[in-house]
Amino acid sequence: MKGAKSGVRSRKKPGWQQDIARERIEILFANAEKEFSRHPARSHRYAELARKIGMRYNVSIPKKIKGRVCKKCNRYLFPGINAKVRTSSARQAMEVRCLECGHVARHPYSKEKRK
Ligand SMILES: [Zn+2]
Repeated sequence: MKGAKSGVRSRKKPGWQQDIARERIEILFANAEKEFSRHPARSHRYAELARKIGMRYNVSIPKKIKGRVCKKCNRYLFPGINAKVRTSSARQAMEVRCLECGHVARHPYSKEKRK
């Protein structure tokens, strides 16, 4: 919905722009997933693009997508193909190993909602 123009100018991007950015990030990742088997290079480019959008609009990559990009080489990670995912109960975390560069990322899953 448009038309919610406020006259306030701030350095922060307006919320609707962030919403669009978030949506574009999700679309990019959906495409990356779809095309990976045939065009892995394209998927890597989508992942990079998504990251750039996220930085420009100050939007963080959605949680479900996090772990799908290597923080080190920025490649799109497809578990079972170029990434190995395992859970570490000792660390209460999911470990994603990038098989492109060997980087291991840990994503703790104990970020429970506080009540
Ligand atoms: Zn990597």
